[in-house]
Amino acid sequence: MQALTVVSLFDGISVGQLALHMAGIPIDKYIAFEINKDSIKVTQYHYPATIQCGDVRNFYWESIGHCDLLIGGSPCQDLSSANRNRCGLEGSKSSLFWEYVKAKNVLKPKYFLLENVQMPARDFEIISQALGIYPVNINSSLVSAQLRNRFYWTNIGYKNYNIFGFPTCAIPQPNDKKIFLQDILTSGFADRQKSNCLLRNLSRPSYKKDYMMRRHQKSFHTIVFEDLKDKYNSSRYFNQTELERLQTLPDGYTKVLSRNKAAACIADSWTAEVIAHIFKFLKQELEKGEKNEW
Ligand code: SAH
Repeated sequence: MQALTVVSLFDGISVGQLALHMAGIPIDKYIAFEINKDSIKVTQYHYPATIQCGDVRNFYWESIGHCDLLIGGSPCQDLSSANRNRCGLEGSKSSLFWEYVKAKNVLKPKYFLLENVQMPARDFEIISQALGIYPVNINSSLVSAQLRNRFYWTNIGYKNYNIFGFPTCAIPQPNDKKIFLQDILTSGFADRQKSNCLLRNLSRPSYKKDYMMRRHQKSFHTIVFEDLKDKYNSSRYFNQTELERLQTLPDGYTKVLSRNKAAACIADSWTAEVIAHIFKFLKQELEKGEKNEW
């Protein structure tokens, strides 16, 4: 199989690269764009050959030349339906999506993958039109102990067409691995089957028990109890290993960071098993030596 030149925008802790390895796809060159030094530290620890190019803005994409696979999950805070103050694709964070489109138009990669959150219909439509395909919707809960509903726009794998001939990504859902929160804890007990989507601010160490319990009762925060007879005093947030397992990262993947720095990176990261599932279909196409037409 031919080794790929991969360009990864908003690379984070390089879960894209991890997933390529999980799917057994050889990498020739992996060019990453990321500005967070903690994330870059994790990436370079595991994959020192990664070429880090920094900020996606004002990059001269022509200088890259060849690209087989373009991947990325542009920052989503302005798009997320969970953010009431969102400003959509015009927001300063989410407009970074247009950098992805720019890169795609210049690089003309054979394959692409873009991930994003649930968003208002208008933005969803704009993104789909810009990429020429409707996404597949996969909830990480099928392969992990975490509820994380995400959209994946990709030309990898099968497609369906609507009456206007517009394609929808038809990658099948991964099998339900039936992994529950209790299964991934290093100690203690969970009182729900799946964790809520990981939140960046769970990394703040300053949260008081009362606040933590209140948020938990409203079901926003998932917490662990060391002692079911004394829930209040024995409650805690996830430790680093548990956070890694919630994203199906190998244990210790973020060990070069402190727990709180790792928590922020992991909350933003992809679920490795979901991406590896999508890349399984890429591997099939690469093995066939031809791209599925669409
Ligand atoms: N998919 C990644 C994480 C994506 S989160 C993973 O699996 O880890 C979005 C990332 O975009 C964050 O890590 C953030 O630091 C990065 N980012 C934000 N603005 C950027 C910019 N202008 N250029 C490059 N990366 C940026």
